[in-house]
Amino acid sequence: MSGLSIASYFPFARMKVVSQNIHLDCRPSQTLIHLEPDQRFRPRCHHCGQPGSVHSAGLRRVIRDLNVGPAQTLLQVEYRRVWCPKCCKGVVEQLSFADPSKRITHRMARYIWELCKIMTVQDVACHLDLDPKTVKAIDKHFLEQEFGGTDYEGLRILAVDEISLARGQNGYMTIVLDYLTGRVVWMGEGRKAETLDGFFAGMSAEQKQAIEAVAMDMWEPFIKSVRANCPQAKIVFDLFHIVKAYGDVIDAVRREEYKKADKDKRKFIKGSRYLLLSNRENLLSDQRARLRELLRVNERLSAVYILKDQLKAICRHRYRGWAKRALNQWCELAAQVDHPMMQRFIGRLRFFEYGILNHCEYPISTGPLEGVNNKIKVIKRKAYGFHDPEYFALKVKQSLPGANVTTKTG
Ligand SMILES: [Zn+2]
Repeated sequence: MSGLSIASYFPFARMKVVSQNIHLDCRPSQTLIHLEPDQRFRPRCHHCGQPGSVHSAGLRRVIRDLNVGPAQTLLQVEYRRVWCPKCCKGVVEQLSFADPSKRITHRMARYIWELCKIMTVQDVACHLDLDPKTVKAIDKHFLEQEFGGTDYEGLRILAVDEISLARGQNGYMTIVLDYLTGRVVWMGEGRKAETLDGFFAGMSAEQKQAIEAVAMDMWEPFIKSVRANCPQAKIVFDLFHIVKAYGDVIDAVRREEYKKADKDKRKFIKGSRYLLLSNRENLLSDQRARLRELLRVNERLSAVYILKDQLKAICRHRYRGWAKRALNQWCELAAQVDHPMMQRFIGRLRFFEYGILNHCEYPISTGPLEGVNNKIKVIKRKAYGFHDPEYFALKVKQSLPGANVTTKTG
């Protein structure tokens, strides 16, 4: 007799493998593993784990398990109803390898969860020949266990941002980041003051008191919420959002210049949006050459471009007096660019001056927020459950656990 046995692949407590049927010729190939209760052990109640007595036998369920070789594995499980002395009722017996109400084993579910960390729900579903809804539900279940709660510990500097889920007005979510670690702490639907109030509602008075600064876009509802909940916190308008808002001014001027330009000059401006809005360091050498050429031939674009660098420089000052002077100078120079968008932008800078000058104490760089935005773009592209904001938020939290934090794996 051969010593080979498949039983060791199914080391399930109180169960034994009684037969297998392998169908390698069908697509997908399948193996059916027949499991029966091992009579040497008393069955246990699936609610409380207490040993009980057999009430009735002959229940059957087919449960998907990890593949064996190339074959999809289906466990044909026979199990029993048990009289539980503790629960005082008849219950289904406990299975060590699966929830009696589920059609997938625990280890298969964990495998799906691991795959979902690196693949899309669609890809995982396709790879395992499962319904995407099943895959998503499993991923979400594990995500909720790990990231469902809000961890308010150790927060000092926050960054608050909004992200749009879908085109249109309603698809916004508010995201709160621990600026110092890059961890996504919380996400909520909407971008109103009440939305952010929802984040603060879970904090103790001491935790609120510990917040020194909050970085954000120049967005009144968030300002209102921070002032109401953490009046001591300094509001800082981060460089990422300031430069992003200024990007709209550059783009408006660029479009106007394009319209005005003759055919010869247009070729310099055409397709230059990316060149003008990107960080110069991120451009390739031929792109830099094109940008230089464009700025040489168009004086107005050159002026708004230089102002972009000077705007960043304001936020690098460490002394309020200097920052204030630089801001005044900037606004004077910018006022000479005759464009309604520029005038509006100057008005906003003036109105929100306090949050720009707070950069002196809290130099919020663009890095973490830019990183988050890029990550979120990727998740948006990948997430099947994009129409489920809760799932989306969990995926974001999972992918941005913060520095020095290792995610627990199942
Ligand atoms: Zn029980």
